[in-house]
Amino acid sequence: MPQRLSGNHRPERAGALETRRQNRKAAWTRQAGPSAGPMLPCRMRTLVHSPRYECDIGPHVFPTRKYGLVLERLRQSGVLASCAAADPAPATAAQLARVHTAAYLDDFMALRETDRVRRSELPITASIRDAALLAAGGTLLAARHALTEGAAMHLGGGFHHAMPDHAEGFCYLNDVAVAIRALLDEKRIARAAVIDTDVHQGNGTAIIFQEEPAVFTFSIHQENNYPVKAASDWDIGLDDGTGDAEYLRRLGEAVPGVLDSHRPDLVVMVAGADPYEHDLLGGLALTLDGLRARDRLVVQECAQRGIPIVGVLAGGYALHVEDTVRIHAHTAVEVLAAVRGGSAAGAAGSEMAGPAHGE
Ligand SMILES: [Zn+2]
Repeated sequence: MPQRLSGNHRPERAGALETRRQNRKAAWTRQAGPSAGPMLPCRMRTLVHSPRYECDIGPHVFPTRKYGLVLERLRQSGVLASCAAADPAPATAAQLARVHTAAYLDDFMALRETDRVRRSELPITASIRDAALLAAGGTLLAARHALTEGAAMHLGGGFHHAMPDHAEGFCYLNDVAVAIRALLDEKRIARAAVIDTDVHQGNGTAIIFQEEPAVFTFSIHQENNYPVKAASDWDIGLDDGTGDAEYLRRLGEAVPGVLDSHRPDLVVMVAGADPYEHDLLGGLALTLDGLRARDRLVVQECAQRGIPIVGVLAGGYALHVEDTVRIHAHTAVEVLAAVRGGSAAGAAGSEMAGPAHGE
């Protein structure tokens, strides 16, 4: 019986496990890879968003309305005034084919409810398919902006359970993998790292890049939760109920190691809101302040090294959707603060000013 993201997400796995793969990928042959682009004097900030991410999935724990609500919160707080909003195009068939199998893509595009597609815990409709295609294009678009601007935020994406040959969880297309693979193919980057802080392990991303030395996958998650774990390059499985201090300590110990050992040209931060203490599908106990500190930690470690970062939203199932929206909005603010030449203090809006508040 497969685990379900929305159902019993407490598999019988005892204790926290921290594993670094024994067969660590061989030492990278550092090549004179393409640079991440010139330093720009401007303070461009880019938010990628599509109104088509909000689609009807029926009664469901996944709040697709969060996408529009995050944008609205950023607008109301004045953050959007200093940003360019970018509308993504769908990922192309060629880009998708570099990550997903032809058989799965055929079923998915034709909305055929085969076993490959039914592994998802979402319905499949044309609008849901199209939202997934746009989200894959959206992460790629945001990543392109990150490479030239230093940082960019995708108010969507993070579908990290999607596998090469089937859907999983609430994920049909692995937008993170599609974006990274496209940029590798284009030789815009030579190496990438995924820093996945969603409460659920990024099993799809781990599988997709398991044999790809150019991509380092890191996941910090609740061990005793969905999914059945795949081996990332570095996994930190946390005990149930882990709170801010322990979480931030473990993350703070790990992130510099990821960045300094792999020296990525791009970091994709999968910033799920579901490690939150009041999340319906998560069992960690981070506060609003703790989650914002999480994002700031990752962003600052990248910024100190001049590594471009793109943020994607991933999960978030708080009891009150307003909390999920607030967490995601804070992530956007922290990521955009890393824009070259920019600073949190220099940006407009109350979201940008000052520390997080546990409102
Ligand atoms: Zn999640």
